[in-house]
Amino acid sequence: MKHMKTVLILEHTEEVFDKLTCDVCGTESRWDENWSEKEHEKVITTIAMEEEESLPSGGSSRLVQYHICPDCFKNHLSRWFESHRGGKATETTSVW
Ligand SMILES: [Zn+2]
Repeated sequence: MKHMKTVLILEHTEEVFDKLTCDVCGTESRWDENWSEKEHEKVITTIAMEEEESLPSGGSSRLVQYHICPDCFKNHLSRWFESHRGGKATETTSVW
């Protein structure tokens, strides 16, 4: 026997993640915000500025981000920082 039931199907549009591209060279990431090529690796880049104002009556925030692939980070952005005023990155490592 074929059983039928009535279901409600809503037609709507929703903004969902599609892909991440480098704002410098246009390279597309393979895994959402993880730029690694292999599933067991993680390479995340973060270049962002967040401004926030919080008052008793409410607040607001503004987040500006650049999505940069590891190649552009290492070979362009880092070199630019280091060649301007001797900028140095904060580097933290861990092993487990
Ligand atoms: Zn890039």
